Amino acid sequence: MKVGIIGAGLVGSTAAYAIILLKAANEVVLIDKNTKRSIAEAADIQHALPFISASDVYSGSYDDLKGCKVIVHAAGVSQKPGETRLMLLERNTAVLREVITNAIKYAPDAIFIIATNPVDIITHLSVGFASELGVPRERIIGTGTTLDTARFRALLGRHFGVDPHHVHGYVVGEHGDSEVLIWSNIDVGGVALIDFIKFRKVEFNTDIKDEIENSVRNAAYKIIEGKGSTYYGIGAAIARLVEIIGRDNRAILTISTRVKEIVGVKDVTLSLPHLIGGEGDLGVLPLKLIEKEKILLETSARIIRNKLDEYDRN
Ligand code: NAD
Repeated sequence: MKVGIIGAGLVGSTAAYAIILLKAANEVVLIDKNTKRSIAEAADIQHALPFISASDVYSGSYDDLKGCKVIVHAAGVSQKPGETRLMLLERNTAVLREVITNAIKYAPDAIFIIATNPVDIITHLSVGFASELGVPRERIIGTGTTLDTARFRALLGRHFGVDPHHVHGYVVGEHGDSEVLIWSNIDVGGVALIDFIKFRKVEFNTDIKDEIENSVRNAAYKIIEGKGSTYYGIGAAIARLVEIIGRDNRAILTISTRVKEIVGVKDVTLSLPHLIGGEGDLGVLPLKLIEKEKILLETSARIIRNKLDEYDRN
C-alpha cells in the first residue's frame, strides 16, 4: 500500500508518522514545494522505522506518486498580513489545482483525502477539478468533522466512564463554527444515552451538556491559543482514513463530501456519517435527526453554500 502526501508541513508529516505507527501503509512519499522540509521530515520519520516496521518514507516529486492508492492533500499557504479570507482562499485554490492536476496525472486511480482548510470548501473545489479529469466524487473525501466527532466521543466517554470506542455520536455539517452535535441519537454500546445514564447513575444535566458542546466546538481555538496549530488529532484521523481504504475496513466516519442537495440546500459539501471502504466513499448513512437538529444542519449547509457563492462571484 503506497500513499502520497502533498504538503509536508505539520499536518502532512504528522499524518505520515501516524500512518507508519498504525502500519496503514508500507510506502509513503512526501511532496512539498519546500523540498528541504520534505527531505528533513522524511529523514526524521525514517529514523523511527527500525522501532516500528520495515516501511519506506521518502521525499519525492509528482512522478513518485505512480502506484499510490491514496493521496493526501495537506498543502496550504497561510494568511499574509492584510490579506482577506477570500484572498487566502484564492491562493489555496491555486495550490489545490496544481496538486490535483499533477497527482491525477501520475495516480489516476487514487483516492484523495483532503485536509487543507477551509476543508469543506477545498473538498468542494477538489471534486470540481477532479471531475474535469474524470475522477468521480466517491474518490474525493474531505476529513470534515472526523476529528470533531472523535472529540465529541472522547469527552462523552470520559464523562460516562466508558471507552469512547463504544460511544456512538456524530458531529455533522461544517468543519467550523456552525458544526452540529447530534445529541438525539447517541448510544453507548447499543444502549440509548438516556438509558445508559440511568443504568450507571451518572450525573448529566444541561450544564454538563453545554460544557461538552463548548469543548468540542472550541477545541481547535484552545489548542491554537496554546501551541499555534493542531496536527496530532488530524494526523491520526488521516492515518485511520488511509487504513480504512487500504484494508477495505468498511468503517463509518463523518467525512465531508459534495452532495447534490441536503436539507433543501443545493450543491454543497459538508460532513455526514459515511460508510468508507477500499473504493472510497460508499454512501451516507440515513441518520435520523430531530427537527431542531435539521434546522441547525440547514443553517450550517447555508453558511458553506454562501461561502461558495462568495467565492464564485469573485
Ligand atoms: P504548514 O504550513 O505546516 O504546512 C503546509 C505545507 O504546504 C508547507 O510545508 C508548504 O511548503 C506546503 N505547500 C504550500 N504550497 C505548496 C504547493 N504548491 N505544493 C506543495 N506543497 C506546498 O501547515 P499545516 O499546519 O501542516 O496545515 C496544513 C493545512 O491543514 C492548513 O490548511 C490547515 O488549516 C489544515 N488543517 C486542517 C485540519 C482539519 O481538521 N482538516 C486540522 C489542522 C490543520
